[in-house]
Amino acid sequence: DDSRVTRHYISTLLRAQGYNVLTASNGKEALAALNDHQDIKLLLVDYTMPEMDGALLAQEVRKTYTPDRMAIIGMSNADAPSTSIRFLKSGSNDYIKKPFQIEEFYCRMSLNVDMVLQFETIRTLAYTDFLTGVCNRRRLFELAESALADAGRKRLPVAVAMLDIDHFKRINDAHGHDVGDMTLRHLAGLLQSHFATPDGGRHVGRIGGEEFCVVATGAAAQAMPEACEALRRAVEESKVETADATVCFTVSIGLVEEDLGRFEDLLKAADAKLYAAKTGGRNRLVR
Ligand code: GH3
Ligand code: MG
Ligand code: MG
Repeated sequence: DDSRVTRHYISTLLRAQGYNVLTASNGKEALAALNDHQDIKLLLVDYTMPEMDGALLAQEVRKTYTPDRMAIIGMSNADAPSTSIRFLKSGSNDYIKKPFQIEEFYCRMSLNVDMVLQFETIRTLAYTDFLTGVCNRRRLFELAESALADAGRKRLPVAVAMLDIDHFKRINDAHGHDVGDMTLRHLAGLLQSHFATPDGGRHVGRIGGEEFCVVATGAAAQAMPEACEALRRAVEESKVETADATVCFTVSIGLVEEDLGRFEDLLKAADAKLYAAKTGGRNRLVR
């Protein structure tokens, strides 16, 4: 809002309800603030502002932020219905006519923020493997494709590892499905700690029953042979303690380190190496 008084009034209302508020006095400032704070959940925007009006700002913001990530609410004291229509057509979720009832203002804020938070929950559920908490297959494919495209542009090294628990069926058969599940969670924990890097560059996902995949780019890809070998050893030395049994297990790993372009091709190549690790005696890394 270009009016200092309105900015102050609305921020005071919002802060009173526990919202973190950033203010901007024109479209340019708003875009800069959005750029600096990518976790903003709601944009409240006045219609009449110099240079770029509120509807144009909404339109601009929607090029980057889809409605499931950020809500936009237009505001104006203009009486013409065309103002609210312009806002809604520009990608705003809602419109508040000034002056407003404080109660209505708060209701619209929380309705819109709740919607964004619900989308966040749905996204997390849709992307996470329920049993182990790592990325699920769908998410890993998305992350891999974007990481590989980025690596291709920057000519960075890439690596894809496929991991599979050895004789996992025997664990289920001997100790029951619950212990099998505990083993999967235990392995997922080891994968997350072993493949985490301070600067990112690696994604871990569960892509099948007892099959996991690690996608790495850049320096994290170059360090994959050592990381895979360290993981293999850590699994071999670790135990899953249950109420009535101690389960030891091993993993076989196939690792591909050349950029074959498409993720599917890398996965296929890693799977072939994994098969070689299995036929070669299991509990080993094949590159
Ligand atoms: P290999 O060393 O050749 O990989 O032998 P394996 O027994 O590990 O492989 P196989 O593919 O024969 O068996 C995989 C087993 O994984 C069969 C299936 O019941 C089990 N499994 C798949 N998903 C789950 C799960 O979510 N929980 C549990 N407990 N078991 C699962
Ligand atoms: Mg297996
Ligand atoms: Mg398998």
